[in-house]
Amino acid sequence: MKIFAVIGDPIVHSKSPRMHNNALNTLNFCASYTRYHLQEKNKLKDVVKFFDGVNITIPFKEEACLIADFKDKSVLHIGSANTLLNKNNKIYAYNTDYLGFLKAIEEFKNIKNALILGAGGTARALAYALKTQDIEVAIANRSDGRFEKLNHSVCYLYEQLQPDFQFDLIVNTTSAGLNDMILPCKRDILENLFCNAKYAFDVIYGKNTPFLELARQWNLQTKDGTDMLLWQGVFAFELFLECEQQREEIFKAMNMALNYP
Ligand code: NDP
Repeated sequence: MKIFAVIGDPIVHSKSPRMHNNALNTLNFCASYTRYHLQEKNKLKDVVKFFDGVNITIPFKEEACLIADFKDKSVLHIGSANTLLNKNNKIYAYNTDYLGFLKAIEEFKNIKNALILGAGGTARALAYALKTQDIEVAIANRSDGRFEKLNHSVCYLYEQLQPDFQFDLIVNTTSAGLNDMILPCKRDILENLFCNAKYAFDVIYGKNTPFLELARQWNLQTKDGTDMLLWQGVFAFELFLECEQQREEIFKAMNMALNYP
């Protein structure tokens, strides 16, 4: 029997075990998916070897890239991985966050340019995703310490964003709004962006964040991170089980599990 896991710190709130186990049961795979609470990043490689495949979450996605023997093209560009396969004692690294994001924004049409708020690992994955679609990307953050890792993107501090800047899509990748009802930056800066934009996306899932609430007040089409979470899971599942013909069934099973009370 194959065994998979999600590894992170904290990990108790991860939805991945319930999503993956429901898909495994529904599609009759003889496999199981658990969670693993890791605190020391130097033990990641040893822990990965217990499993056939793992998902990696905060704060180990960069370490996941470093320990891999083989990295797919997206991992090489982004510098972090959320899916690892353990095959023939070698670790293979993938990033399905970027694929999940692209699937989640399929309903947003004709995007020419986008502004990503936040400059962490998720921002790097989403910048890569948008660039694969020939969408121009800029990044804005509250501090400039992470800009050097984004050397292929135009970067701004929030206060450098000019009122006449125009972006079709604004994406929040900061954790502002996750545990507190705050915006990622000053309200007037966001209002200037929203008055010229068409779409707003927040990677936070299952919450009406102040960012999305304000975007709706400006009549933007909005979306939270639920579909991104589900689709990154679907693409990881396909890598784990080497199955590519059952995408919609996997999505439905994961979606159902996410909506259990
Ligand atoms: P990082 O820690 O790498 O980056 C966080 C970024 O947010 C930094 O740029 C940081 O700024 C900024 N930030 C943090 N708090 C605030 C705040 N209060 N106000 C303004 N800016 C803030 O995190 P990740 O990129 O790895 O993850 C970001 C979020 O994405 C998490 O909430 C995670 O759960 C979510 N996520 C969702 C997924 C999904 O499937 N829906 C998939 C992957 C991630 P600074 O540089 O100044 O510290």
